[in-house]
Amino acid sequence: MPANDSRTALVRRARKINRVLAETYPEAHCELDFDNPFELLVVTVLSAQTTDRRVNKARPALFAAYPDATAMAAADRAHLEQLVGPLGFFRQKTESLLKLSQALVADYNGEVPGRLDDLVKLPGVGRKTANVVLGNAFGVPGITVDTHFGRLVRRFGWTSETDPVKVEFAVGDLFPKRDWTMLSHYVIWHGRRICHAKKPACGACPVAHWCPAYGEGPVDPVAAAALVRTQGPA
Ligand code: SF4
Repeated sequence: MPANDSRTALVRRARKINRVLAETYPEAHCELDFDNPFELLVVTVLSAQTTDRRVNKARPALFAAYPDATAMAAADRAHLEQLVGPLGFFRQKTESLLKLSQALVADYNGEVPGRLDDLVKLPGVGRKTANVVLGNAFGVPGITVDTHFGRLVRRFGWTSETDPVKVEFAVGDLFPKRDWTMLSHYVIWHGRRICHAKKPACGACPVAHWCPAYGEGPVDPVAAAALVRTQGPA
């Protein structure tokens, strides 16, 4: 956090950025397609090391074959590998889905639990995945610290932490709980569209005025506008 940012000033600035991002991205939502908590849990696990767009493409065939935890727990491994193949790391991902589904069947009657403490005990489910599922399938506020979120909140000066759990707590402290889920979407959308890792489009950024990292990318409006991504899930 910038040295002269008192706590009150930091909270005020963070909430201002959140409000401007909310106005900028009113359509922000989870970019993974899903119809129920089980699907969201599975597609979130599958989204590691790949794009939401690829996962969304693989999703229909996957759930047509294995619509619930019971079906997936008994899946034919080779067939499942084939379905998740386009997403990379197919052996590990298949193993994760099998173990996850088997645990859901064994411990939760095939249903996805709606509590953080239970979710993080499931094989292959960390806090990031658990918060995505809680926030988007159960309406329980959660902060999703993915690579975009971590990078942006450090650029915003909201925290200097790099550990995702510490980032989650530090940022959670700046906002009321009810804002957590949408805040995550706004920040992630901004990271995917404007505040890129390598070349943030600072000259086209709606929160530039409140961002201590302004200037990390091109500030020239034309050069910055050329960097903005406007379409669909990354
Ligand atoms: S001003 Fe630049 S670094 Fe700051 S949020 Fe905008 S694009 Fe990112």
